[in-house]
Amino acid sequence: MKYCSQCGHDIQFSIPDGDNRPRYWCDQCGVIHYQNPKIVVGAVPVWEGRILLCKRAIEPRIGYWTLPAGYMENGETLQEGAARETWEEACATVAVGDLYTVFNLPHINQVYMFFLGEMVNGEYAVGDESADVGLFSEEEIPWDELAFPTIGRTLKFFFQDRASGNDYPIRTQDIAPLKRKPSLDDAL
Ligand code: ZN
Repeated sequence: MKYCSQCGHDIQFSIPDGDNRPRYWCDQCGVIHYQNPKIVVGAVPVWEGRILLCKRAIEPRIGYWTLPAGYMENGETLQEGAARETWEEACATVAVGDLYTVFNLPHINQVYMFFLGEMVNGEYAVGDESADVGLFSEEEIPWDELAFPTIGRTLKFFFQDRASGNDYPIRTQDIAPLKRKPSLDDAL
């Protein structure tokens, strides 16, 4: 950030009076430009025991598989965001259920939140941000081609919980930055 979006003046990066951390702020008009984490919201859409996955057609992680997920928009609820992302990426209508996984990613200022979901019919198609879309059984999940650790962990929890009695407690985890070359384990 270089210029104040309020008045166009040069911007400062320092601790404002009465605050406790550096911020972008304007000493001309006094506005503090707060920056806060973004929420990524997604769904685990299920149809007849299989999970709907999308192959990403956009960076980052183009060509890798993901659950439908994306940045929450202003003016929507988390559940609406999960349903919207499923529609945009996979042209599928999902009945969004309970919150399931929550991941803190403080190194990139993101929080991921995935909801359980049932597809209302088995219909899906390739959405604008996807190169391919499909339903996968547990045996068919492309574990070494998943886009993000949040996806692999959510799927792993899901299959564990389904196998041990269909009880899906909320899972909260922190994800730390990679300090080495990515490998298959990173998907999990
Ligand atoms: Zn200003």
